[in-house]
Amino acid sequence: MRGPKEPRRGATLEDLAVIHDGAVLIHDGVLKEVGPTRRVENLALARDAIELNAAGRVVMPGFVDSHTHLMFPLPLTSEATATGGTQTIRTMAGSRLAVKARSHLEAMARHGSTTVEVKTGCGPDVIAELKILRALAGLKQPPVDVVPTFLLRLPPSRVGPAEHWNALEAWIGDEFLPKLRRRAWARFADLYWLDQPSLLPSWKRYLDLVLRNGLSSKLHAEGPSPSGAVALASEYGASSIDHLEYATMADTRALGCMRTIATLLPCASFHSDTQYAPARGLIQAGAAIALATNFNPCLTPVLNMQAVIKLACCRMGMTPAEAISAATINGAHALGCADRVGSLEPGKLGDVLVLNISDYRELAHHFGTNLVRTTVKRGEIIWEDGKVAPRAAEDLRTGSA
Ligand SMILES: [Zn+2]
Repeated sequence: MRGPKEPRRGATLEDLAVIHDGAVLIHDGVLKEVGPTRRVENLALARDAIELNAAGRVVMPGFVDSHTHLMFPLPLTSEATATGGTQTIRTMAGSRLAVKARSHLEAMARHGSTTVEVKTGCGPDVIAELKILRALAGLKQPPVDVVPTFLLRLPPSRVGPAEHWNALEAWIGDEFLPKLRRRAWARFADLYWLDQPSLLPSWKRYLDLVLRNGLSSKLHAEGPSPSGAVALASEYGASSIDHLEYATMADTRALGCMRTIATLLPCASFHSDTQYAPARGLIQAGAAIALATNFNPCLTPVLNMQAVIKLACCRMGMTPAEAISAATINGAHALGCADRVGSLEPGKLGDVLVLNISDYRELAHHFGTNLVRTTVKRGEIIWEDGKVAPRAAEDLRTGSA
């Protein structure tokens, strides 16, 4: 996946720069060389290298899952809402939250994700939000790289009365965002967009505060009319605008001229059996698109980027190559870390997958099978597909009798 430094758009999404019979050489967790096997094997540095044989298999960059709600808990109440989630977080011990997060991250590593964005956003509740961010910051040696994002999500009851918003704004601007910045607890600040004209001045004040506090913005443009969110993303130079299931032709044209990455989440549409984002229209307009899971233990219980690629191809008309670019390098651009991850190029981290397929296009064929044989993170094997033990001979005889 050698390629341009900029996010991939249009025809460049198709260019995977596949090397047949290739090899990668990783030293100190960083890719030193990527090229034809014979050349890489002859390098002096390769002489003492540990060999990982991937003959007959696809080797590719680890997936970059740039949009998850991994910390969203299964609520104690039957109501799968943000409010239910907030209550659960408030009553949950921080250590338990961390254990849950780790087990999700490990499952993601087994399915090939090596960089994962994690949002807060269980409601504008200072205790719950800080608890999530503290738990993420305190994770000891997480198996994959975690990029934390603060998501401002106002539950409907908090939307409306101006005094609510004024109090919230003071909290966010005077205390919360400066604290996140000081402690490096979040890289991004996301906004759960609600299409209400009366809220526009508040959204703008929030995005101003985000910029003033040195964070990058993201917009969560779920729901029927994302046009206002597209305009805000353009005005504030957002890193990404996500969801976009209901983007219009005019929105796709606008996104085609923007630097902002359009992050599409086909598993969210699949799970709720609703409309898919117009991927083809966005690609034709020249938009830089990324793909992510939207993993949420409650509302989108899918943490497998291979399933995202499958749905992007069979439900949104993307080609396997486009989907792979969107699930790796463009996801890295959406998280501002494309200089380190997202492709196999010298100087980047040794985040590499070995897949149990012989052609990358098979990723768009299988559904529900984990094709990852080995996940390598910074040059270390963090997961390997196991052996299925044969049954004992007597058992086989009894079985056939
Ligand atoms: Zn989401």
